[in-house]
Amino acid sequence: MFFKIKIIYFLIKVKLEKLTGLYSSKWYKKINTFFFLKNLKSSKFYEFFNVYSSNFFELPIINKSLFMENFNAINTCGITYKQASEIAERSELSRDFSPMINNVSVGLSTGTSGNRGMFLVSETERANWVAYMIDRVIGFSFTEVEIAFFLRANNKLYESAKSRKVSFNFFDIFQNIDSHIERLNNLQPDILIAQPSVLMVLSKKKVNGELKINPRKVISVAEVLTNEDRTYFESIFQVKLDEVYQCTEGFLASSCSEGVLHFNEDFLIIEKKYIDEERTRFHPIITDLLRKCQPVVRYELNDIITEKKNCKCGSNFLAIESIEGRSDDVIELVDNENKMVSIFPDIIRREIVLADERIKDYAVIQKDNITIMLYVESDFKGSYLLAKSALVKRFEVYNVIDFTINKMDISPHKIGDKKRRIKNENK
Ligand SMILES: [Zn+2]
Repeated sequence: MFFKIKIIYFLIKVKLEKLTGLYSSKWYKKINTFFFLKNLKSSKFYEFFNVYSSNFFELPIINKSLFMENFNAINTCGITYKQASEIAERSELSRDFSPMINNVSVGLSTGTSGNRGMFLVSETERANWVAYMIDRVIGFSFTEVEIAFFLRANNKLYESAKSRKVSFNFFDIFQNIDSHIERLNNLQPDILIAQPSVLMVLSKKKVNGELKINPRKVISVAEVLTNEDRTYFESIFQVKLDEVYQCTEGFLASSCSEGVLHFNEDFLIIEKKYIDEERTRFHPIITDLLRKCQPVVRYELNDIITEKKNCKCGSNFLAIESIEGRSDDVIELVDNENKMVSIFPDIIRREIVLADERIKDYAVIQKDNITIMLYVESDFKGSYLLAKSALVKRFEVYNVIDFTINKMDISPHKIGDKKRRIKNENK
């Protein structure tokens, strides 16, 4: 109950900030930043920082590997790397996502940087997240809203948005998508949230008449959404597609009335690390003012962002033209009944990253109906076999037995090309 009161509190706060214009006010953000930096004192890693005499830019820029190496020193809730990884692995394997440590939930991320990351979110932070999701994505409604949410893991973060008004229905993308169709038809969701690769399969099912749902809102998450796919989904579902740029690292951006993604700059500080001479494409370096349990400070993401200037909606929050780096393919194999099985990139990524934490980079390429090429980069020789057997096991769950996995010795990724870890060349 206390949790719901927290959500209502944050929702009122968010609405008031909007109503008064505070949310886009520079001095209001400065005050919030000041208190955020002051609180950094409780983190061993940031202890050196003195909010009165130090400069924000003295804080080190970190990435996922540094974040993980200093896990124990960075987080302020006294949770060790060992405790957190035990709990995260256990819930991934058992598909039971309820365990937490003292009200703190642990999320695993694979993202685009290859190695895995772990993220801690406290109850208050979850309530705050839900409030922002209701405000920016779901929309407030007096009638009950059924949400169908396709995910690879039912993180506590998402489950927490459940209430009498909003009901989150979790669809595990680890399961064969065919098994979800009937449940979707019965549920008749008002809102459908899924990654583009899942939306693609659902669209085809809708075209052939198997899927009979008409959500009033369709939200694309997690992977890169191309313009062609957007147009296609909009024509199939007859709605304007919304987009959320959300990862374990945080709720980063959501789409405006023009359908353009804007960073949530009211609670995020975004720095741009340009990667081309024309200064059009950058890696975002994020500081999340909402995260206290595990501060996310000057954290560099691998995604490549192209900035959009002057969005028609009038918002002064940084607008995104495109995000590169999260576009992977669906692997399609045939099961023992000769039926095509779609295995989503998220699942492949997860299997490999969970197989061995020493894996630094990897690639999976489907060559034809039965041949998969696997590249694994690691200092440990056994990593390749661990990754391979994890994939074999996963395929077997889908009753796929007729396939071979061959080793690639060098990374198939050419510098300058769009980074794709999972590629289906058999399409
Ligand atoms: Zn806009």
